[in-house]
Amino acid sequence: MSVEIVVGANWGDEGKGRMVDYLAQDADFVVRYQGGNNAGHTVVNDFGEFKLHLLPSGVFNPNVTNILGPGMVIDIQALAEEIDEIRGRGINPRLAVSERATICFPFHRMEDTWEEERLGKKAYGSTRRGIAPAYGDRTMKKAIQVGELLYPERLRQRLADIVEWKLTRARLFYEQDSPFTFEEMWDWVQTYGLRIKDLICDTSELLENGAREDKRILFEAQLGTLRDLNYGIYPFTTSSCTLASFAPIGGGLFGHGPDRVCAVVKAFSTCVGEGPFITKMEEDEAHELRERAKEYGAATGRPRTIGHFDALATRFGVWAQSATEVALTKLDSLSGQKTLKICTDYEYKGAPVGRFPLNAILDEATPVYEEMPGWDDDITGVRRFEDLPQAAQDYVCEIERLIGCPVRYVSVGPERDALIDRGAA
Ligand code: GDP
Ligand code: MG
Repeated sequence: MSVEIVVGANWGDEGKGRMVDYLAQDADFVVRYQGGNNAGHTVVNDFGEFKLHLLPSGVFNPNVTNILGPGMVIDIQALAEEIDEIRGRGINPRLAVSERATICFPFHRMEDTWEEERLGKKAYGSTRRGIAPAYGDRTMKKAIQVGELLYPERLRQRLADIVEWKLTRARLFYEQDSPFTFEEMWDWVQTYGLRIKDLICDTSELLENGAREDKRILFEAQLGTLRDLNYGIYPFTTSSCTLASFAPIGGGLFGHGPDRVCAVVKAFSTCVGEGPFITKMEEDEAHELRERAKEYGAATGRPRTIGHFDALATRFGVWAQSATEVALTKLDSLSGQKTLKICTDYEYKGAPVGRFPLNAILDEATPVYEEMPGWDDDITGVRRFEDLPQAAQDYVCEIERLIGCPVRYVSVGPERDALIDRGAA
C-alpha cells in the first residue's frame, strides 16, 4: 500500500485540487480530511473545468473511492447539490461519507454571517458557509454527526435540544428573534439526509480494508499551512487543522504513516480573506498578474490579494507540513514579468526576523527581497525541466534552495497534463 498526502504550504488556493486530480489517476482512495464547502478546488481535465467544494478531487477517476472524512464539516444540502451538478455533467463518482463527520446546518451559516456583520471592519473574511460555528459546536459537544441521520427518532430529539440552545444564543448574542424554527431544521435534515443516506458508512473500515489489500490512498487537504488553526496566522485561520499530520485523524486511517507528503506551493503569493500578508504587491502590478493568472476565489469569486513569492512563509509552510516534495504551480503565470522578487526574510524594528513569526510581529514586519530576472516565453507547452527558459529554471532552483525542499513537480497550466515531473529526489 502507499499513503500520500497533498497539502498546501501557503494561504490556500495553491492548486491542490489540480495536483490531486493528477495524482488520483493512480489512486484507489482519495480522502478529504478537514474543512467543508468553504473549499474551492479547481480541476481542469478532459471532462471540463470543475470547482469542487466538498467532493474530493479524485471524483474524475471511476476507480477511485472518494471519501469525505470524519474531520470534515458537511453541509448536506451543499453536498447533495454538488453531487447533482457533477452527475449532470456526466461524472458518476464513487463516494462514501464518514458517519463521524459533522453536519453543518443552515443555522451555522446564519451564525457565521451574524458574527461577521457584528465584527464589521474587524471581520475575519469568512466564506460565511458556517464552517467556524460548525467546528465550534463540535468542540462544544453540540453537533450532530452524519451517521445520526440513520436513526431518525433519536435524531429528532437531539436536534430539538440543539435548536433550543441555538435559538437562545441567537436571541442573546445577536438579537435574532426566531430566525428559524425547529420544524424548518427538521425538514431540512430529513430532505437532504435522505439524499445522501446511502453514502454514509464507517469509512475507516473501508480504508483499513484498502490498506490490507495494498491499495494506494491519497489524502487531500483544504487551505494551507498559514491558515491552519494551530500553526497559521491565528485568528485569521480556518477552524480546522490543515496539516499533513492531521490527515490520519481527520481521514480515519490508523497506524499507517505517509510515504509521501506533497506540499503544493504557488510560484507567487496569493491570499483570500483577512490577515497579515507581508509581500503584497503594489496594485498596478498586482492587477496585471491577477488578471493574467485569473486569481479570483473559487468558493466566493472574491479577487485574491497578490504578492511576491514569500520564501520565509513557504519555508515554514513546507516544514510544518513535513513535506517530502513540492509541487510548484502557476509558473506559466509569471511569463512576462520583467523581474521577480523573492522575499527571503522579514525585518522587525530594524532587525532580521529569520523565521516565520507570530502575528504580533507580522503586523509590523517588512519584507526583505532579492530580485531575479524574468522571462517572456510562453512555457505552457514545456514538459521537461531542461526546456524551460534558463531564468525560469533559476527561479525554481532558487525557491527550492530557500524553502529547503525538493521541487518535484512544476505546473505550467491548469490542465491535468500541463505538468513537469522531475522525478523523485
Ligand atoms: P486549491 O484550492 O489549492 O485547489 O486551488 P484553487 O483551485 O482555488 O486555485 C488554483 C487556481 O490555479 C485554479 O484556478 C487552477 O485551475 C489554477 N492552476 C493550477 N495550477 C496552475 C498552473 O500551473 N498554471 C495556471 N495558469 N493555472 C493553474
Ligand atoms: Mg481554492
